[in-house]
Amino acid sequence: MPVDVRHAPAPACLRPVSVPLSAPDIGEAENAAVARALRSGWVAPLGPEVDAFEAQIAARTGRAHGVALSSGTAALHLGLLGIGVGQGTVVVTSTFTFAATANAVTYTGAEPWFVDCCPATGNLCPELLEESLAQLAAAGRRVSAVLPVDIYGKVADLRRIGEVADRYGVPVLCDSAESLGARLDGRAAGSFGAAAAISFNGNKIMTTSGGGMLVTDDERLATTARRVASQARQPVRHYEHTEIGFNYRLSNVLAALGRAQLARLDDMMARRREIRDDYRRLTAGRDSVAVFQGADDRDDNCWLSSLLFADPAAVRIVTDRLAEAAIETRPLWKPLHRQPVFADLGRTVTGSADDLFARGLTLPSGSGLGADDRARVLDVLTRALDEVDGRA
Ligand SMILES: *Cc1c(COP(=O)(O)O)cnc(C)c1O
Repeated sequence: MPVDVRHAPAPACLRPVSVPLSAPDIGEAENAAVARALRSGWVAPLGPEVDAFEAQIAARTGRAHGVALSSGTAALHLGLLGIGVGQGTVVVTSTFTFAATANAVTYTGAEPWFVDCCPATGNLCPELLEESLAQLAAAGRRVSAVLPVDIYGKVADLRRIGEVADRYGVPVLCDSAESLGARLDGRAAGSFGAAAAISFNGNKIMTTSGGGMLVTDDERLATTARRVASQARQPVRHYEHTEIGFNYRLSNVLAALGRAQLARLDDMMARRREIRDDYRRLTAGRDSVAVFQGADDRDDNCWLSSLLFADPAAVRIVTDRLAEAAIETRPLWKPLHRQPVFADLGRTVTGSADDLFARGLTLPSGSGLGADDRARVLDVLTRALDEVDGRA
């Protein structure tokens, strides 16, 4: 007899969780900032909080300009348009990322081309990037951008990626949605390439509930993005339009929330790093599992912490034990070349992202995680890892 799914108990991994993966970390400072913005009367989109937020994020990322937008996806979209991406061209990007990266490419009419990652970091592999650009050039395809992603808050190998892209005369837009606050060789995430997109979605390292920013040193790119983000209204009193625009600007109220979060960014990163260190201690001395992205996370923002198991079967065991304790976990990003919606697109893949998807598991990483919850996660996880190691 078929199971009546309406009455079947949800599998443990779908039940409500008491310890979420990465919940917004909101306190008194945020409440006060939002209330202040509301009282100021600047409730309509744009206003002084937006201007100040743009200047602060630009400074934090070492950029001349920031354009505050309604999402990181909008920042990717306008960044791609700003560097000349459009119909009939190819954008080479990482397969190991969130769908938003490739979705934004399709909004421009261009076609994503998926390249595999370095197994150790999950970030776009420079050698495979070179291979893909050579192949695309030989096939006469026009590549309009390289779009690397700083995955889970570790900046991609952007110096080598930049060198490869330069050799082919292709501009780089960085998807830095996950890496605000991280660094590479003393430079801030967001400072590499022609421009970078940052996300302030609810689960990111800091949030405006929903929002994003395009950062760049190119004044024309910033000015154009700002104009088309406001329905491309020309600066005249009547509504005059000479090009197609979007409704992508950030609300002044949300920018106030963003400024309060930015003031706490370093603290929130430190909290996430403590959680990462807990997981490192817990997995030390076990051959069956390691913290993903390697031992050197000095420059990372530690947005999400993940484990990588030697045996894919261990993922199921640990997922189930944590779900039974109402602790949320999630597989690593499913490679985009495996997503049904992108299945027929071109790729240069070797299996690294597939392997990470099979063997990885992301654990609770939020800076708002309380001491009791943290202790409980470590306790349940220790027992699950003992079970994996056959000690239980
Ligand atoms: C979150 C995210 C985005 C999209 O940001 P939104 O603000 O949610 O639109 C894009 N790329 C990556 C890698 C992300 O993690």
